[in-house]
Amino acid sequence: MEQEEAKSGVECSNCASELPLGEGQRAVTCAYCGTAQPHPRPYAAGQEVLVPGALTPYTLGVVQSCDGPDAIEVVIDQSRSRYAVESLVPVVHPPAEVETGTRVFARSMHGWEPTWVVSCDRISAVVKHGNKSFQDSFFDRTVAISDVRLPARAADRVTRDQPLQRFWGKLTRVMKIVIVVAIALAFLAIAAMFIVPLVLD
Ligand SMILES: [Zn+2]
Repeated sequence: MEQEEAKSGVECSNCASELPLGEGQRAVTCAYCGTAQPHPRPYAAGQEVLVPGALTPYTLGVVQSCDGPDAIEVVIDQSRSRYAVESLVPVVHPPAEVETGTRVFARSMHGWEPTWVVSCDRISAVVKHGNKSFQDSFFDRTVAISDVRLPARAADRVTRDQPLQRFWGKLTRVMKIVIVVAIALAFLAIAAMFIVPLVLD
């Protein structure tokens, strides 16, 4: 029985060697020939995922079964629906402490709301109001750390992808354009200074 469990039963599309299947991966790469192919079962049962919702940007659900990238059954509030891997965002439980500014999903009376961490300790997290237009007029909300979820991709870069750094990145791009335009105008002005007298002669 143990030997059967160790075998994935999935062959490489190129060299037909057996592929080891990890969890939470969208693609598998063959160890022998390097060919990559879609993971036949990208999600494990019980994996929490974010799914697009009609009223809120995201709804948190749990994978019930996964028979392929296009046949993932997700349970949301005890009702089941099917999704493709492209529309699902895996979520992870946060580590003991989450850095300030991290984008998270926090459970509220309205369900799971996208928000940002203001501060965090091992027991609770202070998060901004889920609705951006209320963030200035309402106090930040304290939630239990168990009611916080991280989108898995954001969790991978918790220390690097801060909103302030993104802002500075954008500002630098704008500054670059301004500088290029200014240099181009300066060249035009210098050229005009030389060419205009020649034309007038
Ligand atoms: Zn192969």
